[in-house]
Amino acid sequence: MELAKDIWQTALGKLQIQVSKANYTTWLSDSRGLSCQNNTFVVGVPNVFVAEWLSKRLYPLVRKTLADIMGKDVDVRFEVHNREQLSASPLVAQTDGGTSSKAPQCRFNPRYTFDNFVVSDSNRLAYAAAVEVAENPGSSYNPLFIHSSTGQGKTHLLHSIGHLTTNNGLQATYIAAEQFANEFVLAVRENQVDKFRSKFRNIHLFLFDDVHFLIDKKQTLQCFFHTFNELYSNNRQIVITADCAPRDMQPLSSKLKSRLEGGLVVDLQPPDFETRLNILRAKTEKTMASEMEGVLHIIAEKVCENVRQLEGALVYLTAQSKLSGTKITPETINKLLTSMTCKQDIKLLLRMVADHFSISPEELINKKRDRKTTLARHVAIYLMREGYNCSLSEIGKELGGRNHSTVLHGYEKIASELSTNPNLSSQIAEIRAKLNPPKGRRGTYQTA
Ligand code: ADP
Ligand code: MG
Repeated sequence: MELAKDIWQTALGKLQIQVSKANYTTWLSDSRGLSCQNNTFVVGVPNVFVAEWLSKRLYPLVRKTLADIMGKDVDVRFEVHNREQLSASPLVAQTDGGTSSKAPQCRFNPRYTFDNFVVSDSNRLAYAAAVEVAENPGSSYNPLFIHSSTGQGKTHLLHSIGHLTTNNGLQATYIAAEQFANEFVLAVRENQVDKFRSKFRNIHLFLFDDVHFLIDKKQTLQCFFHTFNELYSNNRQIVITADCAPRDMQPLSSKLKSRLEGGLVVDLQPPDFETRLNILRAKTEKTMASEMEGVLHIIAEKVCENVRQLEGALVYLTAQSKLSGTKITPETINKLLTSMTCKQDIKLLLRMVADHFSISPEELINKKRDRKTTLARHVAIYLMREGYNCSLSEIGKELGGRNHSTVLHGYEKIASELSTNPNLSSQIAEIRAKLNPPKGRRGTYQTA
């Protein structure tokens, strides 16, 4: 029993980096290792729906993860363990501003504060608006809508607002749209939609991240707008982020769009060279500042797509030099950065393709074979080959160990269909445009 518990904890650690954060929180975080007998590992989960979901979607991944840890193949069973557990656990990152007897508990990311946010012309307006709504919630811009391409600091600003309002004794709730959608589906299954919605009723600030994720999820979107309207009419502050402005969210009705843009809409632009350098300086350990200055210049010059990649490059290079005990030189930087950015871009590509087809990135990788998933997988193969010149075996590896001929078949299928299927070619153009937004600096893809 104790052994199963420990093994499962280790497995959770590994699974956490393999599935999306929202999926981890919704489906795995409340699970526990119950037993391991007769080559069957039993995982306890809070309800039947979670058990079904995990069996259908994550079974191969969980099985492989356990086999890696235990050094042998085991079967996996998901069993309902304790129904109370789910309702007892907080479903969203929430802060208690002191209204209950429990000690205030803050679950915002401690690194995402206004103090740690480097302000420049590319983000000044969004920053100022975020500070304003955090200091005077509900009285200036409501809703505040912040949009940008990925990795430009939207989530950072939402968490910063959360920190400041909590420090001022107010209650703020942050939730990412993907998690909202997962929890809504759970609530529908469990007949607990009212309970789900009531969680948001008494908060002062509603911080909603990545609303674009809901665009084609009709029911969830409706639930979101009920929540929005309720909070808005009670004069509660709402801050929303997305990858584009409300007017560009095509499938939304004009009524919903005008609701979203009824307050202030601001964007975050990709940072210029000087800002990239300042961000890198801010993220470099003080003791290493002077030694790293030259390196930071090179990174700021080479990595210009988004701040997440910039930060990733710094962490990666620092770790590599510590591990190998060698100094970072311009020559090693070039080599390391090329392999790093390519890997990150592929992750992003898989995510974009999955989002486009309304499936999860894990489904692209696992064995699911319905029409939609297969088409999405083929599109991912095509884009990886065209955009990043990946070899067939590299693509196969990225897609859960598929073999060379399966990958080639997928590629050829899309390549041959493109000339006769305008719908497919416009879908591919749409995904390419998202990967290469017009404001971006790279140009891996030609959108023609
Ligand atoms: P988004 O939500 O727009 O995809 P994030 O908020 O997750 O982007 O930002 C990605 C990373 O870049 C985070 O680690 C964040 O702290 C960092 N970051 C983004 N913009 C800034 C900035 N102006 N100053 C400091 N760090 C930033
Ligand atoms: Mg974000």
